[in-house]
Amino acid sequence: MDFELSEEHRMIRETARDFAEKVVAPYAAKIDEEEYFPKEVVAQAAELGFMGITIPEEYGGAGMDTLSYVLMGEEISKVCASTAIIIGAHVSLACDPIYRFGSEYLKKKYLIPLAKGEMIGCLAVTEPGAGSDVGSVKTSAVKDGNFYILNGSKIFISNAAEAKVAVVLAVSDKSRGKRGMSMFVVETDTPGFKVGKKEKKLGIKGSSTCEISLEDVRVPRENLLGNEGDGFKIAMMTFDGGRILVAAQALGISQAALDAALKYSKERVQFDAPLSSFQGIQWMLAEMAVEVEAARLLTYKAAWLKDKGEDFVLHASMAKLKAPTVSEFVTTRALQIHGGYGYVKEFPLERYYRDARITQIYEGTNEMQRLIIARYILKSVF
Ligand SMILES: Cc1cc2nc3c(=O)[nH]c(=O)nc-3n(C[C@H](O)[C@H](O)[C@H](O)COP(=O)(O)OP(=O)(O)OC[C@H]3O[C@@H](n4cnc5c(N)ncnc54)[C@H](O)[C@@H]3O)c2cc1C
Repeated sequence: MDFELSEEHRMIRETARDFAEKVVAPYAAKIDEEEYFPKEVVAQAAELGFMGITIPEEYGGAGMDTLSYVLMGEEISKVCASTAIIIGAHVSLACDPIYRFGSEYLKKKYLIPLAKGEMIGCLAVTEPGAGSDVGSVKTSAVKDGNFYILNGSKIFISNAAEAKVAVVLAVSDKSRGKRGMSMFVVETDTPGFKVGKKEKKLGIKGSSTCEISLEDVRVPRENLLGNEGDGFKIAMMTFDGGRILVAAQALGISQAALDAALKYSKERVQFDAPLSSFQGIQWMLAEMAVEVEAARLLTYKAAWLKDKGEDFVLHASMAKLKAPTVSEFVTTRALQIHGGYGYVKEFPLERYYRDARITQIYEGTNEMQRLIIARYILKSVF
């Protein structure tokens, strides 16, 4: 057993930290306050290879492993959770399924420019009637010669406002239930593909979250990912991997909030003593530190299992339950330690608190993670 990061992993962490502090940090408040999509930041992330960090070099990526991806996500999230999920949704939800399930043709045509960051991608699964229950997706895909005709509506799609490519789940054979779903790579400028309302949100305000409507969208047959009927499986496998990055996002926000609370508690004097000298504050800080470390260990372990080619699904769900729960626990305490200053925008505490909340919802809510974990542990006991 070895808890040491390798030289390579320490280097990627340093590179990501440097990028976060020098390039992302100056934009963090603007991204939040103006719901600004940081194109300059994304362009520099692309130069560092972050937009295709886990994709092999032959397909335009940086060819790094999941732990490197987690370290990058954690460092960027310490500074700006919006930027982290712009990259995360692009890499985990668009690049990854095309890499794992796409034909050579799809990889050359779409994955290479996506992984180089020349275009942004998104994944469109959720619909008004299908959230946690992905099996209820209604968007239809009807075969017409060498095309599929897609009709339906999607909601809450991250990166939709900027995406040139959307990976879309649709029903190609209604009679087969979940096995009748297929996944398509759709160019967002195809006639009939419309990006609708951009949601106003509590946090991660720089990451666009939009409705998409599909009206007779003609998608060439070669844009099918995997085989017809593989769509549900592709969606589930894509989320399994993506969850590790969301855990890293929650972890990064938590670490930033803890760091801020430690610093502030030493500086702020009340009753002629720094806050850090009061046992009530010390106990809060101690519990926060324990929770952050527990979240980190689970998140890194999930990445490590994935990198070893082992079954990582249970640990990805455990990390996705633990780290987001910790992020709420830690950010609310960090805010409390800042008193009134935690509530105003002079300090980033209120942003950490708001940004953290989404991590318990997207890519499977906390409740869905409990279902997955329970299924796994019950299966192995009985
Ligand atoms: C900012 C943001 C970005 C997103 N990005 C994307 C994206 O890029 N692509 C995409 O496809 N989707 C995206 N989503 C959608 C997201 O994945 C869903 O919102 C999420 O899966 C929950 O679905 P829902 O909102 O319909 O809630 P519901 O499924 O309606 O759930 C409502 C509540 O009921 C609970 N619940 C549901 N079923 C059960 C059950 N069986 N047992 C116990 N509790 C249950 C849930 O946990 C939740 O607390 C995004 C959402 C947001 C808010």
